[in-house]
Amino acid sequence: MADQYCDRCGKYLPEGSIKYSVHIQILSDFDGIILYEGENSREDTQKIFSEAESMDENELEEELFQELTFTLCENCKTKFARDPFDRGTGFLKTGKSIERLFH
Ligand SMILES: [Zn+2]
Repeated sequence: MADQYCDRCGKYLPEGSIKYSVHIQILSDFDGIILYEGENSREDTQKIFSEAESMDENELEEELFQELTFTLCENCKTKFARDPFDRGTGFLKTGKSIERLFH
């Protein structure tokens, strides 16, 4: 297997070095509800469907499902597991934390 580099910090990872693979699946979390702005809900619906129809099949698939794989060195794996979005706060623990973040 060829030598690799850490996808986060760029560290060279020769064969035999400790490295980790992070596999991420991003799935659409559509709840079946389409919100409308204004009163032209029928036009809005047609617009949404025509936009979806005009999208390339690959683009549409990416909107619904994506898989990403990264290689990380040991140090970056530890940091990623502790704070995957690199916000310096770790995981959000409660709804109140989310409110504080966005208000
Ligand atoms: Zn790294």
